[in-house]
Amino acid sequence: MTPVAAFERAMHYLDRAHADGFRKRAIAGALETVRATPVDELRSRAEARTLKELPGIGDASARLIQEALAAEATGETPSYLLKLEGETEVPVTDAARPYLEALRGDCHLHSRWSDGGATIEAMARTAAGLGHEYIVLTDHSPRLTVAHGLNRERLEAQLRDVAQLNDELSPFRILTGMEVDILEDGTLDLDDDLLERLDVVVASVHSKLRMERTAMTHRMVAAVSSPHVDILGHCTGRLIDKRPASSFDPDYVFAACAAYGTAVEINSRVERLDPPPELLAVALDHGCEFSIDSDAHATGQLEWLPHGCAVAAAGEVPVERIVNTRAADDLLAWTGAR
Ligand SMILES: [Zn+2]
Ligand SMILES: [Zn+2]
Repeated sequence: MTPVAAFERAMHYLDRAHADGFRKRAIAGALETVRATPVDELRSRAEARTLKELPGIGDASARLIQEALAAEATGETPSYLLKLEGETEVPVTDAARPYLEALRGDCHLHSRWSDGGATIEAMARTAAGLGHEYIVLTDHSPRLTVAHGLNRERLEAQLRDVAQLNDELSPFRILTGMEVDILEDGTLDLDDDLLERLDVVVASVHSKLRMERTAMTHRMVAAVSSPHVDILGHCTGRLIDKRPASSFDPDYVFAACAAYGTAVEINSRVERLDPPPELLAVALDHGCEFSIDSDAHATGQLEWLPHGCAVAAAGEVPVERIVNTRAADDLLAWTGAR
């Protein structure tokens, strides 16, 4: 295991456990240093016991570098990583397990191209390691400048990158997509010809979340009735204990989702868990389909699906109504027919 791989793995474990604070910052800082230092220098410093002279390398990080270098010969996993792996396992409830086992892919996640922390390849390889058959790459659309949304040129470049990665990673598949902003008037933040080219489109409200109820209802209905939109992302925009849910008429919005065949996302991020249970029940009553997504911005966050599965289980969502329990070709047949 290379030292870089060891620290990336450590970050993965800390991310999946929602770790914050000192340990995460220490590992992140050390990862930067390890990335910037030639491995030969790390090796000679490990022998000379001078690793701690490097910026951001303390006792624990120095030991992890040493163990990773030693593991290159033995193939063993550094003990620090074994310990971290055990400490950070994401619990799966009995109720959530059948949902988790049924999921074949993840339809909402970000890469470094927008505001994610990992490369497309790292996200794809991690998802494959978790047993997924596919992911849908959904970086942000151009207007979300704070999240480095992709303009036409960058999206086209990303599509070329994805095509090349798909050749390397086959049979695993990266489906193309975007998390497109729903603009104030309900139109979408991407030109039609590009929307047409993408495999799966998630549409989300990220701006003017406090809009008046009727206007927000019209805005969302307009978006979900677009033939380009496949999934309505985190419908209320709430951030638990931080930002209240947007106000809209759920009967109109979910009736439109059902009528136009747009799936309602069950967002697995613990600060979102969106829709809340009472709205999930309304969507269920209207006959909507669902997509349980991680909305991951780092590889470790791809392991957050059990949280969304628990929401689906509590709401008694029938597994056959969850679009990402389908094989990639069936998912594409569904989005293509819409
Ligand atoms: Zn979003
Ligand atoms: Zn997102």
